[in-house]
Amino acid sequence: MSLISAYDAALFDLDGVVYLGPQAIPGAAEAIATLREEGVRVGFVTNNAARAPQTVADHLTELGVEARVDDVVTSAQAIARLMASELPEGAPVLVTGTRALRDEVMAVGLAVVNSSADHPAAVVQGYDPEMTLPRLEDACHAIQNGARWYVSNTDSTRPTDKGLVPGAGALMGLVRTAVDAEPTIAGKPYAPLMEETITRLGAQRPLFVGDRIDTDIMGAVGVGMDSLLVLTGAHGKRDLVGAPAKGRPTHVGYDLAALQEPPRVVEFPDAHTATCNGASARVEGGEVALDHVPVDRDGQLDALWCVANLVWRTKADAGVALDRLDALR
Ligand SMILES: [Mg+2]
Repeated sequence: MSLISAYDAALFDLDGVVYLGPQAIPGAAEAIATLREEGVRVGFVTNNAARAPQTVADHLTELGVEARVDDVVTSAQAIARLMASELPEGAPVLVTGTRALRDEVMAVGLAVVNSSADHPAAVVQGYDPEMTLPRLEDACHAIQNGARWYVSNTDSTRPTDKGLVPGAGALMGLVRTAVDAEPTIAGKPYAPLMEETITRLGAQRPLFVGDRIDTDIMGAVGVGMDSLLVLTGAHGKRDLVGAPAKGRPTHVGYDLAALQEPPRVVEFPDAHTATCNGASARVEGGEVALDHVPVDRDGQLDALWCVANLVWRTKADAGVALDRLDALR
């Protein structure tokens, strides 16, 4: 039985899972096409509030991944929906973000205003590559005057082809230095974006697929959703083993091909030993030891899954064992 056969929907984080910057991750398009053929519902979930869902769908289509606009859920949509549930219909909102965020706010029946002088009931903040200090200052004034504060997501940085730049979380931090308030946040790891996606897909047994412990996996755990961590993006073996209790995935795989493979199941023959397929690890003197290091990639991932589960159970040190798993980053 394949890993995905236990689920009726697969929700994908994008960067590091489906693509890496401008390029599709090898095999991702095929893996997603196979899911659709099998009748598994597919959704794409992004913390990026700056791009419209249609833009994201077009980008995926260009990369060979079939995606309709309704398959894409953004943090802008999630925060707009949340605001609509908490504010009166037609309430004035100061949008400190891109046109895409503005469009979502209008789509849920709220009114967009351009200045704190218009007495907005709320401020909504999202990433905008052309954000200016005067606009952030005006957001501060509105919040100081009593407007509720909403933020699309808290990613502190954003990857670009020249390197990292400050992200939505950094812009939020600037505002926070000047206001005595805490924002309501939609994006992963917070629940609203995850819940919006589950609702949109009508999923009963969804699986979240992501590359980051601190957003994807913690977001899934937070709403009680199973998750698959893939190793094609930001986080690798040490992040997995070091994951806090609220950030431990249900499954691990190299990439999306794992969806069609049997899930890795760890067994504990005794309190100090973990086994998975042919691999095994045990705890000796507070350290995790590997009896033998598999040479093939699948075997090494089995071994990693043993190490991770043992560390989570026993808090043993996994340093030496991890160093020996060469095929894993
Ligand atoms: Mg990612």
